[in-house]
Amino acid sequence: MDTRAFKRSLHHSDRYNRRGFGLGEEVAGSLEQAYQSDLIASIRENGHQLRHGRLSVKLAEAFGFCWGVERAVAMAYETRRHYPTERIWITNEIIHNPSVNDHLREMNVLFISVEDGVKDFSGVANGDVVILPAFGATVQEMQLLNERGCHIVDTTCPWVSKVWNTVEKHKKHAFTSIIHGKVKHEETLATSSFAGTYLVVLDLAEAQLVCDYILGKGDRDAFMARFAKACSPGFDPDRDLLRLGVANQTTMLKSETEEIGRLFERTMLQRFGPTELNDHFLAFNTICDATQERQDAMFALVDEPLDLMVVIGGYNSSNTTHLQEIAVSRGIRSFHIDTPERIGPGNRIQHKPLGGELEVVEPFLPAGPLKVGITSGASTPDRVVEDVIGRLIDLADA
Ligand code: SF4
Repeated sequence: MDTRAFKRSLHHSDRYNRRGFGLGEEVAGSLEQAYQSDLIASIRENGHQLRHGRLSVKLAEAFGFCWGVERAVAMAYETRRHYPTERIWITNEIIHNPSVNDHLREMNVLFISVEDGVKDFSGVANGDVVILPAFGATVQEMQLLNERGCHIVDTTCPWVSKVWNTVEKHKKHAFTSIIHGKVKHEETLATSSFAGTYLVVLDLAEAQLVCDYILGKGDRDAFMARFAKACSPGFDPDRDLLRLGVANQTTMLKSETEEIGRLFERTMLQRFGPTELNDHFLAFNTICDATQERQDAMFALVDEPLDLMVVIGGYNSSNTTHLQEIAVSRGIRSFHIDTPERIGPGNRIQHKPLGGELEVVEPFLPAGPLKVGITSGASTPDRVVEDVIGRLIDLADA
């Protein structure tokens, strides 16, 4: 499919909107009430610190809602106002945060269900309104909704669109896109749908396997078995790893993305030499500013003497998981929770260890003076962070 041509025609359709409805002022009050927090505002003003009895809380310098998420949520609220009676759907979360998604459910917004990674569009009818989330949707999904006669409200973050443009450029110049991302994450699924030939690598170890193959050190069958679900149909490593462009999911660990870019550059340099390099390698850093700021703030926070860390955000939120990774890499006792209700009752916490399943830790808070670091992912409202702090205070006082 000519994805560029499809996007162009979609953008000109009167059933497509990607700018909102000019109702910002009308929805501002509801957004503030649902998501903002006076307590967090005052902690921000107070050097990101709060002291209460034996508890000292230090908030990261940058955390919580990013610009792209605020914009997407506001557009969803505007959509409800603009279409008060129409059926409105979201494919399949506006952002990766349970409380925000619950608020939208209360506004009678329907969620398209997903089973084994496949979305079920069977309930969506002609004339329905469908909101595409901040992390985007695949070109096939957009095409299906367009053909079904739906009104599409596209809240895809411009940072994500930038990645799509990058892989489109690779395609145009017959480069294979190496996408640093999580193969099942919606953003990476969407990005791959706009790419031509592509291969998704999860981390530096996988990138190293690909580079080894490029330098003649790999086994073809083992390579194909490893990447069978992470490449474009018909991918041939002997043919498709000669001209590479690197792009990434916007929320990956920045340091790893940069290292992967350098690794591919060195590999192509070794294989083709400096004069040919530009014909074989293209790199763009597509990590978004918000991800970068939150990760930088986390690196600063974990340098402080902390007794423990609480990282707040959806369990399927990539940027939140990377914040947790930073704490864990420093050996800090760190707990990733998605909602305040994971803390208590009593001195317990239910959290998700990195790469593991939910588990309960009891006792959670140790005795004595306590310094707790807190951060939250780009899709977590301040109101949720406030509630987490409230529960920590209650526990410390108990
Ligand atoms: S994390 Fe970055 S890419 Fe994702 S919505 Fe926020 S600003 Fe956009």
